Amino acid sequence: MEKILFLSHTDENGDLSSIALEALTAASETAAGLGAELTVGLFGGTVTEALRRIDGRVLIVEGAEFGVSRYATDIAAAEALVKAGEATIVIAPGDSRTLRSFAGLAARFNAKVDTHVTGIETAGGLRVSRWFYRQRMQAQLSRTARPWFIAVEGGVFRPYEAKGSADVRRLSLDPPSTRTQVVEVRAAQSGTQTIKPDAKLLFVAGAGWTKKQKDGNVHVDEAAELILDFLKKADASLGSSKSLVDLQGEGQVLPFMSHLNQVGQTGSTPRHPKGLATCCHGEEPHVVGWRFINERRAINLDANCGWAQGKADVLYVADAFEVMREVNRLLG
Ligand SMILES: Cc1cc2nc3c(=O)[nH]c(=O)nc-3n(C[C@H](O)[C@H](O)[C@H](O)COP(=O)(O)OP(=O)(O)OC[C@H]3O[C@@H](n4cnc5c(N)ncnc54)[C@H](O)[C@@H]3O)c2cc1C
Repeated sequence: MEKILFLSHTDENGDLSSIALEALTAASETAAGLGAELTVGLFGGTVTEALRRIDGRVLIVEGAEFGVSRYATDIAAAEALVKAGEATIVIAPGDSRTLRSFAGLAARFNAKVDTHVTGIETAGGLRVSRWFYRQRMQAQLSRTARPWFIAVEGGVFRPYEAKGSADVRRLSLDPPSTRTQVVEVRAAQSGTQTIKPDAKLLFVAGAGWTKKQKDGNVHVDEAAELILDFLKKADASLGSSKSLVDLQGEGQVLPFMSHLNQVGQTGSTPRHPKGLATCCHGEEPHVVGWRFINERRAINLDANCGWAQGKADVLYVADAFEVMREVNRLLG
């Protein structure tokens, strides 16, 4: 019989992130589908809050040294949990902290590893699916090799809801000696943190924000103000077209924008329930990055822009400066 281990670190509050709760649903459904045993393996500075959200058999490694994201301590804790859980299949959230040591962890067990998994099926044997070639081809994979380590993408499964209580076993583990001291965490963005995978709304800015407007002038400072004000009030994540981030490389156009924000064929494929594109033409290489956005709206001066060609649910043919000024005013 397969033995499935859900493996995750906790966050700074000792809780599980939403992507971790989603991966736990994936592990729980996989265990149910295969008739396998499920163990939850948690590590972190503290796991107290996380324990309120889970049930069943739980193994924990807890201690201040395991509270920070550091390869040596993360992999030591994870290794102890995989060993104690005698796992044949390990399912983990595909977040940046996990992925940093996941392949190394798999190597310690001579395991096979698949990341960016967006679907798991159990009927007729375990199969996982993931996208290749910039989200253009989807493949289903099955493996006979065990252990099999699987990192799941966010936004695919429902967050886990516990039905019972947790039966907790604490593993005592001496932290390995480390040379790395974690001093602080700095966000990749300069200034405001604009990429928020958990946000309900993706706000995309296009190059139009930097173009001459109807008075014959550019209004980049006002554009920056309107965009930041909206992001703050709506708690939205910021995406960009390629043209805008490329302009950025030529000079500081919008100070908070970087290539990390680029959505599209050569950018990211974020997952948010809703998206609003502003001053962005909606060309195919950009819109292909919107394939997981459920409800799409766009604001463009051009009634014939790409969004009007069946790519958006709603297109507002309007001046984005005026619309966003009013939206920000209404948001208060
Ligand atoms: C191989 C390849 C890969 C690519 N990959 C990507 C990718 O990953 N992501 C990506 O985004 N692009 C990508 N592109 C580029 C893509 O084809 C477009 O060139 C790009 O998306 C255009 O950006 P934009 O819409 O911001 O700019 P523009 O095409 O310049 O459009 C600006 C828009 O702003 C509107 N506008 C101006 N002022 C206002 C206003 N006041 N109110 C409302 N609207 C206004 C205009 O009407 C116009 O539609 C790729 C291209 C190639 C060839």
